[in-house]
Amino acid sequence: MRIARFTTGEDPQFGIVTGEVDQFGQPAEDSVVVALAGDPFYVGLKVLEQEHRLADVRLLSPIIPRSKIVGIGRNYAAHAAEMGTDVPEEPLMFLKPNTTVIGPGDPIFYPPQSSNVHYEGELAVVIGRICRDVPPEQATDVIFGYTVANDVTARDLQRKDVQFTRGKGFDSFCPLGPWIETDLDPQAFADGRQVQTFLNGDVVQDGSTADMIFDVPSLVAYVSSVMTLLPGDVILTGTPEGVGPMQVGDEVEVSIAGIGSLTNKVAQR
Ligand code: MG
Repeated sequence: MRIARFTTGEDPQFGIVTGEVDQFGQPAEDSVVVALAGDPFYVGLKVLEQEHRLADVRLLSPIIPRSKIVGIGRNYAAHAAEMGTDVPEEPLMFLKPNTTVIGPGDPIFYPPQSSNVHYEGELAVVIGRICRDVPPEQATDVIFGYTVANDVTARDLQRKDVQFTRGKGFDSFCPLGPWIETDLDPQAFADGRQVQTFLNGDVVQDGSTADMIFDVPSLVAYVSSVMTLLPGDVILTGTPEGVGPMQVGDEVEVSIAGIGSLTNKVAQR
């Protein structure tokens, strides 16, 4: 099932997106959004007798985390190598504030403090319930679903500061969407799902989730051994190789097989 957040010009609502999604993550033309009452993270799925054509609504970020986005650094060996670093012995955690989140089609604002802003296409795990010290074999129980993320990073500031907070913390630096796919097993990612990033239509990242050093259940276990996770919290699972700069006016698309495709443009702040 695909859970989206959308607006028709009125207050944002959650909804279920029906119809097929093709191999490029594009929904069928006849897809509709069936509206839900309230917030499914808290009240479950209460389906309303109200639907819209997907083409007639504006999709929003499928979740605004109430507490945190936990990023994982260097979780693909080839990306660690291109950064000139070793693979970490344990997952490398950092936080992005929830004010970084934007939705499909929203602009990524290029901050004046940086001259080297990179895309990082990533699988995002969305947590469904409050949890702590989750064993890897129970990770599925606390995962609401998966979405597509772009862990936008001001690479020059990340290197200069050592700490990641500024380089990864600017407003608009965490596009999420287009919806949350709830029906995938974490094993699907261990078996390999294609993660691709396109810059102005050209493939710039083409990785497989099978190449993650720490898999999804391990990451949920590791993060939850440090901090309590709340419904709607997001874990970014790291980016494959091929990161690179974006310029104002560029269009960046991240696509994950079986989930969907997320497109944003870069704008001057
Ligand atoms: Mg990243």
